[in-house]
Amino acid sequence: MPELPEVQTVVSQLDQKITGKVISLTWSDWQKKILTPFKQFSKTIKGARVLGVRRIGKHIIIDLDNDHSIVAHLKMTGHFLVKDETNRLSKAFTEDSINGYIHHIITFADGMTLEFSDMRKFGWLRLMKTAEVEESASITSLGIDALSRKLTPPVFQTILIKRKTRPVGVVLLEQNLIAGIGNIYRSEALYLAGVLPDRRIGTLTQSEWARILPAIKKVLRHAVRLHGTSDGDFRDTDGLRGRFKRVLYVYGRTGEPCKKCGTIIERKKLGSRSIFFCSWCQK
Ligand SMILES: [Zn+2]
Repeated sequence: MPELPEVQTVVSQLDQKITGKVISLTWSDWQKKILTPFKQFSKTIKGARVLGVRRIGKHIIIDLDNDHSIVAHLKMTGHFLVKDETNRLSKAFTEDSINGYIHHIITFADGMTLEFSDMRKFGWLRLMKTAEVEESASITSLGIDALSRKLTPPVFQTILIKRKTRPVGVVLLEQNLIAGIGNIYRSEALYLAGVLPDRRIGTLTQSEWARILPAIKKVLRHAVRLHGTSDGDFRDTDGLRGRFKRVLYVYGRTGEPCKKCGTIIERKKLGSRSIFFCSWCQK
């Protein structure tokens, strides 16, 4: 499932590729995942110009010049592809089957298309008034963004300490506290910080607190630069895999040696999902 770095990859690429484009046509063969009635959706966005693309949590917001925004969520396997005359027949689009489940297409006046491929069909699009986007329920329930400049070490500690008796690896996934950290990056961040995932929040020392947030930001920023991790189905808007997988230290590496100390990487269930760690590098 895409996490913050994957969604940020999509947002940065879309912002660069479709800003300024005018929408001419919308097509869908799976209209129930366009949560706004399809007629209203396509009629409202027709003729509108894209002002820019931004991210709130894992939501993708495409702002239009008619006071409306298209809000999208990739969920499990959804991803946006941007095609024009130069790349429409690229190998990534024609040969990678994961890019072939196109259910929605927005065509721009210059012929470029924004296509939504989604094998599992959990991803969705909806239309909202731009002024109302930030008040929508799924967005107001989000905590501070993990990459926000306002998230400083003291703020981070104040937020997490509310969960004193809970394991740090579990609390990092609570999107209503800190938004954007998912399964892959919690394992990687705690490894970099040298902290075992099942440590109770209340037992963390000041030097551990000082390491955890920088480790989270470092891992997320590095993953954004490499276009995220394609553990399964994630593709960027060129239909290509993210390249973070090859630099993972612990996630998905059960039984392999730690890249720093050679200890075998272990995996355990924490909360409902697996977490990966090195029992030598992490205390
Ligand atoms: Zn190690």
